[in-house]
Amino acid sequence: MRAAVLRETGGPLTVEDVELAAPGPGEVTVRLAASGVCHSDWNVVTGATSNPLPAVLGHEGAGVIEAVGAGVTDVAEGDHVILSWLPSCGSCFYCVEGRGVLCEVAMADMFAGTLPGGSLALSQNGEPLYHYSYLSAFAERCVVPAGCCVPIRRDAPLEVAALVGCAVMTGLGAAVLRARVAPGSAAVVFGAGGVGLSAILGCKLAGARSIVAADPVAFKRETALRLGATHAADPTGEDVAALARELTGGRGADYAFDTAGAPGVVAQAYDAVRRGGTIVAVGLPPEGATADLPAPALVREEKVVTGSFYGSCRPHVDMPLVVDLYMEGRLDLDALVSRTYPLELVNEAFAAMNAGEVARAVIRF
Ligand SMILES: [Zn+2]
Ligand SMILES: [Zn+2]
Repeated sequence: MRAAVLRETGGPLTVEDVELAAPGPGEVTVRLAASGVCHSDWNVVTGATSNPLPAVLGHEGAGVIEAVGAGVTDVAEGDHVILSWLPSCGSCFYCVEGRGVLCEVAMADMFAGTLPGGSLALSQNGEPLYHYSYLSAFAERCVVPAGCCVPIRRDAPLEVAALVGCAVMTGLGAAVLRARVAPGSAAVVFGAGGVGLSAILGCKLAGARSIVAADPVAFKRETALRLGATHAADPTGEDVAALARELTGGRGADYAFDTAGAPGVVAQAYDAVRRGGTIVAVGLPPEGATADLPAPALVREEKVVTGSFYGSCRPHVDMPLVVDLYMEGRLDLDALVSRTYPLELVNEAFAAMNAGEVARAVIRF
């Protein structure tokens, strides 16, 4: 089958013929219909995130189950599924506590670039190829743990479903599940890419009264306004915190989200919220980066600084719900699919993402 392989840090990806093993016990083969191109993949290309190489990237996919391995009973051939890149183990401290995105077992395997237990389903001429975030969805097919498969209704378009597997769930979940945005509140969203736009959709769904989108790219600000932001600002030339205060009688926003993960943005988000407000870090900065916050204010103002990983979601509960909301016309996820590309043009899709030309570029198989 064809797959986009990253052979060395810096790239480019090369689309090659690779071999995929049959699904082992507890595993499933999925034929991919679509795969979104995400900044987290790019972090592997640049080396900001480490993953063993050579590897097949891609972690935002949806498709149809083609085969199931021994012992798989939750899903069956023909099911339409969103791929979740965080199959929680169900039995570690965090899973038992009900916070599967913090699962310590899943996290360890993810960084090893393998399937659970250290096995690899990908190879080429007998040489191993590593997985990325369990999925390796820049390929015609993938073999994944059954727990990565989230069944969804069959009438939902799989291009949109793919985005629910990462960007949409991450952004929308940060607003709805982590911050628990309240009706009538004020929010600022830094970064209006796929995740930031999804956070804006989440704020709108939750009934926020004002939503400020802060992004240096005009196309992204325009898309944000179309999706429900009430105001948009260019943080390189405008004082976003001042705008937030202006909209809230001088206090500041109730919530601010950093979906960019760029240096200094958490501090800007901190500045934009009122006393007692909530700052949610969503965009993943490079390994080793730190966030600099005003320490006396941290004490006196009682602001809450937290992170949100994968939208703090429970994939099997929240992803089908997001798809239902989309199908009922309550979430405009179509606007996120800016362009589709064949797998052969995966490097062009990354270039469009890095140039800020797209909300999301999607590989269609
Ligand atoms: Zn992603
Ligand atoms: Zn666990």
